Amino acid sequence: MRAMVLEKPRFAEEAPLQLRDIPEPTSRPGEIRVRVRVCGVCHTDLHIVQGELPMHKLPVVPGHQVVGVVDAVGTGAKGFKEGDRAGVIWLHSTDGSCEYCRRNSENLCVNAKFTGYDVNGGYAESVIVPAAFAYTIPKTFSDENAAPLLCAGVIGYRSLKLSGAARSDGLGLYGFGASAHIVLQIARHMGCEVYVFTRAAAHRELAKKLGAAWVGDAKDRPPHELDAAIVFAPAGPVVLDALRALRKGGTVALAGITMTPIPQMDYSLMYGERIVRSVANSTRQDARELLELAAEVPVRTAVTPYALEEANRAVADMKHSRIGGAAVLRVSE
Ligand SMILES: [Zn+2]
Ligand SMILES: [Zn+2]
Repeated sequence: MRAMVLEKPRFAEEAPLQLRDIPEPTSRPGEIRVRVRVCGVCHTDLHIVQGELPMHKLPVVPGHQVVGVVDAVGTGAKGFKEGDRAGVIWLHSTDGSCEYCRRNSENLCVNAKFTGYDVNGGYAESVIVPAAFAYTIPKTFSDENAAPLLCAGVIGYRSLKLSGAARSDGLGLYGFGASAHIVLQIARHMGCEVYVFTRAAAHRELAKKLGAAWVGDAKDRPPHELDAAIVFAPAGPVVLDALRALRKGGTVALAGITMTPIPQMDYSLMYGERIVRSVANSTRQDARELLELAAEVPVRTAVTPYALEEANRAVADMKHSRIGGAAVLRVSE
C-alpha cells in the first residue's frame, strides 16, 4: 500500500515524509482494518515530523484523524463490520489496568499507545485499530468534514471542558487553527462570547465569519475580562498574555502537546485563584461526546484538501498558518 513515511525528522519545509510502498497491515484479534479515505493533518503531526517530540517509533506513518471504511475484522472485534464507516483518533489503546485507567482518566494511561506515533497512522491507504478504540461518525458529516473533528475537535472539546467556560462567559482563544475553529462553534452554541487572538489573516477572517465577538493580537486587551481561555499556540509567552486578560478565579487551559518555555512571571499574574492547566490526550468518552455534540450544533469544519503525496506541503502550509481551518489528505475514493 502507499504510505507517507517518516524515516528521519526534519523541518517541514525539507519534506521529511517519503512516499513508500509498504506491506498492508493485517488485523489481529480485537482489531479492525480501516481503508483510509481521508486523514486530517494535526499540529501534533508537525511536531512529530520535525522531531519536536521524543520519537517512539521510526520509521513511522503519522496521521491520527482517520475516516475510512472497515475492510477486515479480527476475531472478537465488536461494534463494526466490513463496509462500516469508522473514525480513528490519537488514542490507539490503553492497558485498562493502571492507576489512571482505574481512576477514569484513561487519557493519562501510563501504557497508552498513540496513532501515528507509537503505531502507524493514517497517512496511508490502511490503518489498524482496536475496535474498542474506533468510532462511528454521525451521518451528517462527509468524510472530509468529519476528519478534523477527530483530534482538533476532540482535544478542543476537552480543553473547553477543562477551561470551565459556561453559558454567557467570555472565552478567549489564543491561536486559531483547526482546533480553535471547531471550539468557537461549540462555545457559541453553548452561549459563550468568544474573543480570538491571532495574527494570521486567514485565521482572522475565518474567526469573524464563524461569529467571534472580537479579534485581536495576543498582546491586546479584549473588550471584557476573560472568564476562561484556551491557549492553542505552542508559545509559552502567550500563557502570560492569557493570564493578563483573565479574571480572578478563571482558568487558562493549554491545549498543545508541546510548548516553548513559559517565561518567569510575577506571582500577581496568577494570584486571585487563577488556574493554569494542561490538557493531555482524550478519553473515549470525550470523543463520543464531541461527535454527538458536533452533529447537534452542527459544526461546519473548514477544510483544505491535499492528495496523500502532498502531505509535506499540507504540513508546511499548516505550520505557516497559510490556511483557515484544517488541512486534510484525500487518500482514496
Ligand atoms: Zn492505563
Ligand atoms: Zn492531533
